[in-house]
Amino acid sequence: MSRGINTRCLHIEADEGKTEHFGSLSYPIYQTATYAHPGVGKSTGYDYSRLQNPTRSQLEKVMTELEGGVDAFALSTGMAAITLLFEIFRPGDHIISEADLYGGSIRLFDNVSKKNGLEFTFLDCSRNDPEKEIRPNTKAIYIETPTNPMMHVSDIRKMAEIAKKHGLLLIVDNTFLSPYFQNPLELGADVVIHSGTKFLGGHNDTLAGFIVTKSPEVAEKLRFLIKTTGAGLAPFDSWLLLRGIKTLGLRMEQSSKNAALLAGWLKKQKIVKNVYYPGLPEHPGHEIMKSQARGFGSMITFTVDTKEHALRILEEVRMIKYAESLGGVETLITYPTTQTHADVPEEVRLRNGITPCTLRLSVGIEDGEDLVSELKNVFSRCT
Ligand SMILES: *Cc1c(COP(=O)(O)O)cnc(C)c1O
Repeated sequence: MSRGINTRCLHIEADEGKTEHFGSLSYPIYQTATYAHPGVGKSTGYDYSRLQNPTRSQLEKVMTELEGGVDAFALSTGMAAITLLFEIFRPGDHIISEADLYGGSIRLFDNVSKKNGLEFTFLDCSRNDPEKEIRPNTKAIYIETPTNPMMHVSDIRKMAEIAKKHGLLLIVDNTFLSPYFQNPLELGADVVIHSGTKFLGGHNDTLAGFIVTKSPEVAEKLRFLIKTTGAGLAPFDSWLLLRGIKTLGLRMEQSSKNAALLAGWLKKQKIVKNVYYPGLPEHPGHEIMKSQARGFGSMITFTVDTKEHALRILEEVRMIKYAESLGGVETLITYPTTQTHADVPEEVRLRNGITPCTLRLSVGIEDGEDLVSELKNVFSRCT
């Protein structure tokens, strides 16, 4: 991992000097289900695309390099990645999880993982000590940092120390920062999750998910599971992800610059009550984030004074789109209460701080001043 991250988004060192695929710079899309064998007991290395496909392999190599793992797995969605990962646990296993997670992850744990016999303790890992929750059957700590949507920041090194001391896996959903800004495996985590739909794909045009691990044992289990359960990423989507990743750095730089501008502007608006952006010096996770990430990302959560104003903002935006998802080139505004976190029970939502006045911005790569003037316009209709 000696080369810079922008270089690693474009080039796999081990492939250099080779002119396979006619020297094509864009990796070919191997749109095939199966592979002919040169003879009995012989294989080209590929047998069937559920097991592996060259385009997906190439993407997995890139992701292994970007997160510093031993292996990576490309899945059809972020949720497929988390679902696959949780197949490594057994009924009776206990997981300590951050309470403020992407709504789909909470839905998965509450409705599927629990049915499969897993036990969970949910807590705010930015404020509470997960070590106190460890039981004899605890197998893993699961966190997002910053969290979706409340932007809590946990200390990855500290979590890794606890996990290591008790023989637990530390799993980090790194979707919000992407490998460009944060590499949890280097900070001691064992497994990294990504919704590739977000910053890695980057263009709001496809879905994908990743698991990257630095544990050979976990990697071996996952190779068996991806072939067995079958949610591997399709060749064309793998190609879209390969293309998206080429500009990851440029997009992360521009969108986080815009986010810093918007966070500062939002703070000064009369109808805005709170701005949750770890790049603001007063954010409680600001210093930890500086010690473990190379940037603050482009996600901002904020609250306004009334629910009516929150809804008015969603109604009035034009260039900024009122839509779910995040991490693409276009700026999106989301209403967690009825969108990403609609299936999270209301009392859990409120306990996590998500109220009907909460809005979330995924800041894109537009010109920052145009984003400010759009919001200025929208806010002027709220008084
Ligand atoms: C979107 C998201 C997911 C789920 O990913 P999909 O690709 O939508 O399945 C998981 N974690 C976080 C933090 C997300 O934002």
